[in-house]
Amino acid sequence: MNGARGFRFIALLSLLGTLSACGGSVEGMVAESYGITDATRIRWDLLDLIFPVVGPARFENDWHAERDGGARLHEGNDLLAKKLVPVVAVADGTVSWVRAKVGGECCYLGITHDSQGVPYESRYMHLNNDTPGTDDGKVIGIAKGIKKGVHVQAGQLIGWVGDSGNAEHTVPHLHFELIDEFGNPINPYLVLERARHLDRVLVGEATTSDNKLLTAEEQDDPISSAIQLPADR
Ligand SMILES: [Zn+2]
Repeated sequence: MNGARGFRFIALLSLLGTLSACGGSVEGMVAESYGITDATRIRWDLLDLIFPVVGPARFENDWHAERDGGARLHEGNDLLAKKLVPVVAVADGTVSWVRAKVGGECCYLGITHDSQGVPYESRYMHLNNDTPGTDDGKVIGIAKGIKKGVHVQAGQLIGWVGDSGNAEHTVPHLHFELIDEFGNPINPYLVLERARHLDRVLVGEATTSDNKLLTAEEQDDPISSAIQLPADR
């Protein structure tokens, strides 16, 4: 994910947009100068993604809903589900970062995907951090082996729904984000509406009944990158 390029692209775009009356064609010119054409843009409407929650979940179009009293906007969709419902990768990809520090930033991760050569990212926030039946914040609800650089398949277990991070005192949910080829979040609502629901996890053992949840000691890569996460969720 080339966030820097995306930032420069957007900055240049807004500058030119201010200077020019014909914003549309300027956008096209700038995109072309970065080697970006319609053919290399992600066609979100054509992506065949898997719904990230495997089990009953409900969501609405809460993209850009006000958060913190209007101080910021919601940059994803919240998928409400019960704690410990399995969460899976929406497509084949590579885990790009993990935040899994017990008592700290936990439990979030991102997966980088490729759509005909164009990268995009899916992000999964508030994965479980509680011993089943408690709200103790003592475990890491990220599936074993899921760490930066690991390849995952569509439908592979990556963790379980929870209330970690700044969702600690809200209802359990998965905050789901899609990040475009420029490093900017897009509204995932229509993609999620089209996504394929699974009736079971395709890769990995979904149950948590035999202590599949990791302890702090078992998670050997607690913070895998210096990615700056937005304030959400
Ligand atoms: Zn959210």
